[in-house]
Amino acid sequence: MLRSAFRGGIHPPDMKQATAGRAIERAPVPERLVVPASQHIGACCEPTVEPGQRVRRGQIIASIDAFVSAPVHSPVDGEVADVGECLTAAGMRVPAVTITPDAEQDFESWEPVEGGEPAAVVRSAGIVGMGGATFPSAVKLSPPKEFTLTTVILNGCECEPYLTCDHRLMLESPERVLRGGRIMQEALGAKRLVIGIESNKPDAARAMKTAAHGTGAEVVVLPTKYPQGAEKQLIWAILRTEVPHGKLPAAVGALVHNVGTAAAIADAVDLRKPLMERVVTVTGRVARPGNYLVVLGTLVRDLIETAGGFVGEVERVIAGGPMTGPALGSLDVPVTKGMSGIVVLGPGDAAAPVDADQPCIRCGRCSEACPMFLQPFAIGTYANARLWDRTEQVHALDCIECGACAYVCPTRRPLVQLIRLAKAELTARGVRP
Ligand code: SF4
Ligand code: SF4
Repeated sequence: MLRSAFRGGIHPPDMKQATAGRAIERAPVPERLVVPASQHIGACCEPTVEPGQRVRRGQIIASIDAFVSAPVHSPVDGEVADVGECLTAAGMRVPAVTITPDAEQDFESWEPVEGGEPAAVVRSAGIVGMGGATFPSAVKLSPPKEFTLTTVILNGCECEPYLTCDHRLMLESPERVLRGGRIMQEALGAKRLVIGIESNKPDAARAMKTAAHGTGAEVVVLPTKYPQGAEKQLIWAILRTEVPHGKLPAAVGALVHNVGTAAAIADAVDLRKPLMERVVTVTGRVARPGNYLVVLGTLVRDLIETAGGFVGEVERVIAGGPMTGPALGSLDVPVTKGMSGIVVLGPGDAAAPVDADQPCIRCGRCSEACPMFLQPFAIGTYANARLWDRTEQVHALDCIECGACAYVCPTRRPLVQLIRLAKAELTARGVRP
């Protein structure tokens, strides 16, 4: 194990015990799927199908001719019931295709994506960053010519509390994860392939080491500390190199992909399989917590039903991990490519802080916890006072929204919400990191 991780960070209770031992099982296909045309950062796709049209599993149902985008495929055989809009977990309204799936589904069969170079296949397959970032993967595989990529890093840290979908994927399908990494390594001509895993998943690390044996790929076990899986923190832990302010990882020769993304890339290149489903951890106050293989477009309401329904008093349902995921305003939002978990929290369960704004007591804990060397109390105070220029001067745009500062704040200031506000305002003014 590496001696030390990045500076700052926190150690929230990991809360993974309810699902870490649960093998991935396929969730039933519900009677209705709502598939958003935008499940990625970048240009929103436009639906390419009409109500009443038959669709085949793997058929493109939404696309757009833009570089930073990813097409959307039908996750099932079925019939288009509606083309309209839907609400996403982030609270946005986007175009969506509603599909009535056939009663019987053949999960081993799909419309194959087109062949060619790996980057082209990955694009056709609609693959995006499945750790939550949802950046189109094909763009990362086509870096600007001035960069020489030397290291592909697969991110198996899964540092968010409660989530275990990446853990189970590495444990149950280490060859697919490794194969995806190899494809990227070869496509980019990178010398090294490194898989970073936190020390709280020793079985996954063993499985990956066994799969990697004799291949030259390295498995690095990292200290368990949040947010170890954040891109810049992971690069520092593995390469001992800091990504310069305002630059991409490619500037230091690194490319980071989530392990789920790697497995999807392997399936796309080897099986010509588009991204139609993903593993989602459903946990917290549900009767049957587990790791479910879910067709995209399944509503959170149906997925919670699959997990046995709510148990006890429910206060919040979070999409993703509790440190960074949004609390859902409605359960009628669909599972999308970047949704790694559904976490159901009751009173007192929350790993993440809440939103009662209180005065800052200048204790400095938020600065100690910040892995980006920022002064969160200052950004929060300036944002509260709408002093946007001052938020820029204290580098609000460098915040990775990990939530560590808010987690440790003894007066429970809503620091991340305030920082997000500042970032949105600065971005709208054309300020760049
Ligand atoms: S300021 Fe941003 S990067 Fe720093 S701890 Fe807070 S949320 Fe994380
Ligand atoms: S942790 Fe909270 S109270 Fe302490 S300095 Fe930061 S914002 Fe202020």
